[in-house]
Amino acid sequence: MSRLHPVSGLPASITPDLLDRLTARVVASDAPVATTVAVFTGEPYVDLPRSTPDDVARAVEHARKAQTAWAATDVPVRARVLRRFHNLLLERQDVVLDLIQVETGKARRHAFEESLEPALTAGYYLRKGAKALQPKRREGMLPGLVRTTELRQPKGVVGVISPWNYPFALGISDTLPALLAGNGVVLKPDTQTALSPLYGVELLYEAGLPEGLLQPVLGEGPVVGTAVVEQADYVGFTGSTRTGRDVAQRAGARLVGCSLELGGKNVMIVLDDADLDRAAKSAVPACFANSGQVCMCTERLYVDQSVYDEFLRRLLKHTKELRQENRYDFNADVGSLTSARQLEAVSNHVEDAKAKGATVLAGGFARPDVGPFCYAPTVLADVRDGMLCATEETFGPVVSVYPVTGEEEALAKANAGEYGLNASVFTRDTVRGRQLAARLRAGAVNVNDAFVAAYGSMDSPMGGMGKSGLGRRHGEEGILKYTEAQTVAVQRVGMFPPRWVPYRVYGKVLAKTLAVLRMAGIR
Ligand code: NAD
Repeated sequence: MSRLHPVSGLPASITPDLLDRLTARVVASDAPVATTVAVFTGEPYVDLPRSTPDDVARAVEHARKAQTAWAATDVPVRARVLRRFHNLLLERQDVVLDLIQVETGKARRHAFEESLEPALTAGYYLRKGAKALQPKRREGMLPGLVRTTELRQPKGVVGVISPWNYPFALGISDTLPALLAGNGVVLKPDTQTALSPLYGVELLYEAGLPEGLLQPVLGEGPVVGTAVVEQADYVGFTGSTRTGRDVAQRAGARLVGCSLELGGKNVMIVLDDADLDRAAKSAVPACFANSGQVCMCTERLYVDQSVYDEFLRRLLKHTKELRQENRYDFNADVGSLTSARQLEAVSNHVEDAKAKGATVLAGGFARPDVGPFCYAPTVLADVRDGMLCATEETFGPVVSVYPVTGEEEALAKANAGEYGLNASVFTRDTVRGRQLAARLRAGAVNVNDAFVAAYGSMDSPMGGMGKSGLGRRHGEEGILKYTEAQTVAVQRVGMFPPRWVPYRVYGKVLAKTLAVLRMAGIR
């Protein structure tokens, strides 16, 4: 059913044999096929099987069967799989980079960064997962009389639905804690970028994952994604705010939980005392990493009036020096957008801004000379309300710069939108930076860094406020969300009032006891 098309310059690691192995695990019963594109050239790349809603039902059933035995194993047994996966991933990193590059078109250095994320996630939960999951003694109702323990039971079968911009990282990293917590997983990646997460699935099975526990399905979001949401016991969704709303409604109607990692309109603030060299150098990857197709990329840059000209001069210099090329080695700084649809969306935002009076300071055009979906890193000024790129997520290599007077104006403008995913503050005074950070309405705020500092701090939860999401990944929350809290309380002594004591008296004694315990600070 699957077929590898001849693609010019295709990395040698990608063979028909590899394709057969990866697609053999997809739960898809009949013939329909989707053809993906090799992004650097726009040529047809692979024909992939498509699952039906019935296939999703089978996938959930198989995962559920395997999950019962998996949930009965101890966490250290499950952890062994993650440990071997971590090592295999680092051994096979080149194949991962090849697969990511062909299907996303990102520069190899960005594919490299992406490939590290599941390794970091595995490493983090190997260190902290068992502790988060272990039973915890809780205060009983009355000291000495009730022994209470909080247990963490797996949800059952978790649906992980992931987007095309970081297909390997997001598909696999969100799967790892779900597995460690004792769940089965049905994974639905975006079809265009399915092979790299399927390779992650293969590595997990090679690392010893019990057969059937992780079931990949493929197909259109509204059909196959919806079927996953309709049948999983919990949904970990990453994607657009529009789809996130639909997922939340369906999950809500079934009374199953979901976490939603959604879009952003992220802000960088450069204060008057910032190290301008560092701020300008940091702004370049902040705005243009993966051609701006990072949920945490900066799209609004508020710069104090007193340093605006100098900051802008440096930003434009670094931006114009970027090497934009489509190549399978580390020599490009920026690669391609991932699809014709994304190129159209980005062009549309820039053309709309130009038509309404924005000034183009860098870029502002597509790069068909580099590749069919390439767009030049773009800096806009004079962007005003009413332009698409002022408030809507562009999800491309486009940033708008705005001069502001003082940090209160920067703060008010930063907090004005409906999104709240990521923000950054540049200042030499880190106390000032942290104080401003606490007033920003964003799930992650970085001081003197764009987004890696917060995102890479795996011990702390990561997610969005407002329209940017619900729930968190990373930290304890990132694994506990895949569990149900269960309270087990053992009553040591029967608490029955003797028949000869009137209930009124008994009640008074209880109330008195409560008052004494309160006074002693025990309850
Ligand atoms: P999308 O919402 O179109 O698709 C995401 C996934 O959901 C895909 O696998 C898709 O097939 C599936 N899907 C589509 N419709 C569905 C439905 N009705 N029910 C269930 N599943 C459905 O998003 P996209 O365009 O693939 O991704 C880009 C968006 O993702 C951007 O907005 C970006 O900011 C966001 N994103 C957020 C994060 C984060 O961590 N907050 C990370 C990466 C991307």
